[in-house]
Amino acid sequence: MTTYKLALIPGDGIGVDVTDATMKVIAAAASRFGFALETETFPWSCEYYLETGAMMPADGIETLRRFDAIYLGAVGWPATVPDAVSLHGLLLPIRKAFNQYANIRPHRLLPGVEGPLKSDAFDILCIRENTEGEYSGAGGRVHQGTANEVAVETSVFTRAGVERILRFGFEQAQARRKHLTSVTKSNAQKYSMVFWDEVTRELAAEYPDVTVSHMHIDAMAAKMVMAPQDLDVIVASNLFGDILTDLGAAIQGGLGFAASANISPDRVNPSMFEPVHGSAPDIAGKNIANPIAAIWSGAMMLDHLGQAEAGAAILAAIEAATAKGIGIRPGLNTTDEVTAAVLAALEA
Ligand code: NAD
Repeated sequence: MTTYKLALIPGDGIGVDVTDATMKVIAAAASRFGFALETETFPWSCEYYLETGAMMPADGIETLRRFDAIYLGAVGWPATVPDAVSLHGLLLPIRKAFNQYANIRPHRLLPGVEGPLKSDAFDILCIRENTEGEYSGAGGRVHQGTANEVAVETSVFTRAGVERILRFGFEQAQARRKHLTSVTKSNAQKYSMVFWDEVTRELAAEYPDVTVSHMHIDAMAAKMVMAPQDLDVIVASNLFGDILTDLGAAIQGGLGFAASANISPDRVNPSMFEPVHGSAPDIAGKNIANPIAAIWSGAMMLDHLGQAEAGAAILAAIEAATAKGIGIRPGLNTTDEVTAAVLAALEA
């Protein structure tokens, strides 16, 4: 029997609840589809930071390297640890160390879920560059606390980095409705974004079956609201993709439905799967977090690991639950009720 080694990082707040919910569903899928799981849970979180002074141990990356995949709930507890510390201490180093350069996020309305838009017929796959760009961490501050203070944060776009994310986007488009929209701001950012557009045009010649549109980030924000049904695959830089996928989450009914995968396409290193949402301190410990985004991310993990049938069955079970009205609005059901409904549909 195939066994997958999974590293679990539940993290903070509702990250813990939704990881528990996801693992119940993943375990049920494993027994139904005949594969096994070996899981190890790591306590790396803001609490861990307060105890140890680091978000993960110095050998954390080496520890994770021996797993087939990483599943992360959510990390962040701004009341005690600044968000820049928690993000740069755990999530970003994992994404960068393992070359998880493709952050993919599906945006569509699940059955029964009412989105805020008139259109409910959209099905978008947003691909965000995940290792460089605006979040490269290059920069510094001088003259801190004085009137002459200066902060510089440099975006870094490499040919290798831009080319590989665009290729990933073209390949995803080939497997879907064959339309790729590349999002930049090349009217205002005349070096990095013009470069990105050039690479897109060069590569387009290699994917003649994919039609390509170029849009500026501001126009794309409007299009996702006004005509999301016209979009198929979107590819964007780290910052632009980050923002657009929160918009994507909003049009699909909220963060409780927004799943994501940090993919390391060459498969040398583990990929990481996590819901888009954060630790939601406002609802932590109340058993009301919607686990659907997290469970959907777990389905993406199984798909990536080669258990496509199990991944599809989990997604179908989520859809069966929402079609019955379970988990379709915040506060409607408890985390446990939504999890139970998905499990029941999976086992039916
Ligand atoms: P958040 O996503 O945690 O919460 C935003 C709002 O959405 C809150 O009102 C919350 O209650 C609601 N919400 C989020 N997920 C929900 C769910 N599954 N079910 C029901 N309601 C849900 O974003 P935030 O409040 O800006 O950030 C809180 C903390 O999480 C911060 O420390 C932030 O840095 C961190 N964060 C972490 C990640 C991550 O780990 N990938 C992502 C985003 C934010």
